[in-house]
Amino acid sequence: MINTALRQMIGWIFPHDGSDYRDGMTIVAKATMRHRGLVASIVLFNIIAAVFEGSTIGILAIAASALVDQNVVHSGLQRFGELGFTLQSFLKDVGAGGLFLGLVSLAVVAQVLKSLMTYWGKYAAIRLEFRVSRQLLTSSTDQIMAYSYSEVTKWPAGSLGALIGLTSTIASVIKVLNEVVLALIMLVTYLAVMAALSIELAVSAIFIVVVISLGISRTLKAIKVLGITMVDAVIHTGKLSVEFLDAPRLLRVFCATQYAGKKINTARNKALAAGERSAKIKAVVDPSIDALTISAAGIFLVAGYFISGDSAIVVIPKLLVFLVILNRMVPQAKILNQSRMTFTALIHSIEVIGSFLRVSDKDFARVGGAIFPGLKKNIKFRNVSFFYPEASGNLLSNLNFDIVKGQTVALVGASGSGKSTIASLLLGLYEPSTGHIELDGKDLRTLNLESWRGHIGTVDQEAFLLNETIKENISFATEKFTMEDIRSACRLAHADKFIEQLPKGYDTVVGDRGLRLSGGQQQRLALARALVRSPEVLILDEATSALDSESERLIQKTLEELHKTVTIFVIAHRLSTIAKADQILVLDNGRIQESGIFRDLAESGGLFDKLWRLQTVKA
Ligand code: ADP
Ligand code: MG
Repeated sequence: MINTALRQMIGWIFPHDGSDYRDGMTIVAKATMRHRGLVASIVLFNIIAAVFEGSTIGILAIAASALVDQNVVHSGLQRFGELGFTLQSFLKDVGAGGLFLGLVSLAVVAQVLKSLMTYWGKYAAIRLEFRVSRQLLTSSTDQIMAYSYSEVTKWPAGSLGALIGLTSTIASVIKVLNEVVLALIMLVTYLAVMAALSIELAVSAIFIVVVISLGISRTLKAIKVLGITMVDAVIHTGKLSVEFLDAPRLLRVFCATQYAGKKINTARNKALAAGERSAKIKAVVDPSIDALTISAAGIFLVAGYFISGDSAIVVIPKLLVFLVILNRMVPQAKILNQSRMTFTALIHSIEVIGSFLRVSDKDFARVGGAIFPGLKKNIKFRNVSFFYPEASGNLLSNLNFDIVKGQTVALVGASGSGKSTIASLLLGLYEPSTGHIELDGKDLRTLNLESWRGHIGTVDQEAFLLNETIKENISFATEKFTMEDIRSACRLAHADKFIEQLPKGYDTVVGDRGLRLSGGQQQRLALARALVRSPEVLILDEATSALDSESERLIQKTLEELHKTVTIFVIAHRLSTIAKADQILVLDNGRIQESGIFRDLAESGGLFDKLWRLQTVKA
């Protein structure tokens, strides 16, 4: 019952024509309710402020009346019984002037106290807003980090950045709501004081406030539409900026710098234009309210003067008090309407953030499961089939193969045949659609993913170095490695020689994605980054395909050194890389078509034989 009434009232103050911002509001509300103490103090300080404000006005009204007729005070005091009589006898000898001065001083004190309470209320609201903002930002960042690989790759990185930023803006809902609550409390207080003075005046004041609010409702719709444009443009700008700024080389060699700059600027200008229009619309509101109230006040004074005729001397003080109240009321009406506009502009953000932070439709990385103790015997693919959700059919069908501990298993196949996907399945980035992967007989689905990945070292085609020093890139995300660990990993990856020749050695900053290093150097650093962790299993996905023959020979040498101590799963285009593998798997049409050792396959007249001949002819 109260709920429905409350919702209706909120609906009237913040019209929402069907947009669903409930999820977003629930998120803000939940975050807010963690700070009940602050919320309670905000409400309390606001109410006390309103009481002081009401008292100020009431006292001023009495002071004004007392100037005209001293009896007002005495008859008023009689209403308070014992205390009233004591005060009355105390004030008996004070003249009209003294009474007026005393009351005005009292009003000033009440006003100072009101200001103090308002400050405390605002202080608490700011504290709350920043806490909630910090909390929302933290939880949105954490949430993205907890996404599964397939979930997080659905989102453009730049949009994710923009969305995290937006999360904090919706915390300003708290500020808006606080202002609304304060304004409403004040408006009610003024109306109460006014009603005590004269019912007619109170009704006319309500009339003025309603006219103002209705007038503004029309602008709200425009502001909401602009809010949508703005938020969408901000997210789009984020996506474009990150994408283009991350590809400086591509933009230059394709002569696309102007194109990229124009696209980013156009997207941003769209957001700015919407912001500007919205601000201009908002700017109309305040002066209109002022003009409206001054006209209303003038009409009241003139009308009051004409209606009361001779007794104007009694009415004028009342009207003056009314004007004071109206004067105090209008800023509150302004705040209320400004808040409505701010909220309306925020609606789309709240909606977007609500659906962004909604967990029910997101896929999170699996946590928990049994800790993987280390590989003892083998890894088995058993009837593994896999398809990407958006693809039409199976990419991999019914794969069966074993990787025995200490062996080197090579996977070959045409580009796009699903080799990298097999590596992703092995890493647990995706789960098989049917079938399963067994580690020493245990289904990977039942094992703790982080503990399994902790035993794996991976080098992909792209090295993904950070714009940090070589040292930091190798120890990446851990602090436990000593300089000696790092050096020996680099020796093993045959990266030590070139690093030592750099002027700053291990302290060389490699540039975005390692651009200050050659492709071969980047690959060897990536290998060192994998090896420093002393992995039991090494997965190399075309780690050598982009290399010069010297770098390839060096990595080849590393693999031979690791043979037997590390289980190696290597995907390679260049068949020379895999000549010494214990087992070669040939992937075609989503199936393992052939398997065996190099010598057998190369002379079998089968698929591998064909691939081998093609390469040897080319070479
Ligand atoms: P390979 O490493 O053998 O070149 P991949 O395993 O990378 O091949 O990709 C195999 C096929 O799966 C390709 O046709 C590719 O289009 C598709 N594919 C790869 N990754 C995804 C993905 N994240 N979502 C949808 N399809 C994908
Ligand atoms: Mg691949």
